[in-house]
Amino acid sequence: MKLLAVLAVVLVLSISATGMSIQESSAQPGARVLDACEPGKPEIDATDLPEVVAPERCPIEGRQIVDGAVKSVVPPPGKGVYAEVLTPSGSQELDVARRADGTVELDHVGDDSQEATAEARSVSGPDPCSDPAYKDDSFRVTSELHYRFNISTTPRELKHVQAVRAVRRAGANVVRTRNPCHLGDQVPAELIYDGNTSGVANVGDDSCLESDGESVVSFGDLPKALAKTCTYYKINPSGYDEVGSSDVKINRRDFRWTTRPRARSCKRGWDLQSVLTHERGHTFGLGHVPEESHGWLTMSPVINGPCQKSERTLGRGDVLGLEGKYPQASMGQTHS
Ligand SMILES: [Zn+2]
Repeated sequence: MKLLAVLAVVLVLSISATGMSIQESSAQPGARVLDACEPGKPEIDATDLPEVVAPERCPIEGRQIVDGAVKSVVPPPGKGVYAEVLTPSGSQELDVARRADGTVELDHVGDDSQEATAEARSVSGPDPCSDPAYKDDSFRVTSELHYRFNISTTPRELKHVQAVRAVRRAGANVVRTRNPCHLGDQVPAELIYDGNTSGVANVGDDSCLESDGESVVSFGDLPKALAKTCTYYKINPSGYDEVGSSDVKINRRDFRWTTRPRARSCKRGWDLQSVLTHERGHTFGLGHVPEESHGWLTMSPVINGPCQKSERTLGRGDVLGLEGKYPQASMGQTHS
């Protein structure tokens, strides 16, 4: 006991001493600025941070949080950003929430399966209609979310009308919990397509940008990734956080896209509707389940390759996740 007490005193003394020397003005007495947060670095590595970061320990304003392949701006107080990047060999998530008092909370840091290689990978796990696994994230769509699609960004291999249809059906697959297992009801929240836009998704080459409040789906360049989703939400201290907007960017430079994955003519085309159904799961607040043990679910982090469409339909766990998050009674809205 005595030794512990002495150690504690020494620790406190040394912590306050370093804190003062690093940043005298902003650090409060006894609060040391974390090494990862030293001023002058525009990017902070999420793996160097604790899950909860007090504002005085990390002057975070205007900087970016990086977690492997995924990166995000720091949201304003009271807001959060969920970032996900989907690659052919896996995907990664990062959730950065900033409470009203400035405290930052991180989730999904470094925990995604990125290692699976195309050769070593084979889909494994129970049949999708019996696998009950899901990951519930902190946010949901409160009653409705409006979005637009930048039709002019559609790659040459797709007809505009086919691309629009795939984008809309992907959202409907989640809202209507479309599945081959005779499960579930629809989600009592709506995803409403407002038509074409000249705007683009708030998704940089490798980072979630600041939200402009608009939800946009657009094609563009993404290093190595098939698609990336940034879902912006308002923190609700007494329930699910509330989605304000959700942007999806699809890589048109490095991948070929199709809306007819089972056609004989499909060579290396990735099914737009399948990829976007997975991404819309993230808009509605589902996270990833482990690929090794739940590979057949739509929310597993690996899409099962070109020229297939299994992710267009949800599995049991995907449906259960939505049902738990969107109970019919509590949302105050029903469909006819
Ligand atoms: Zn994902």
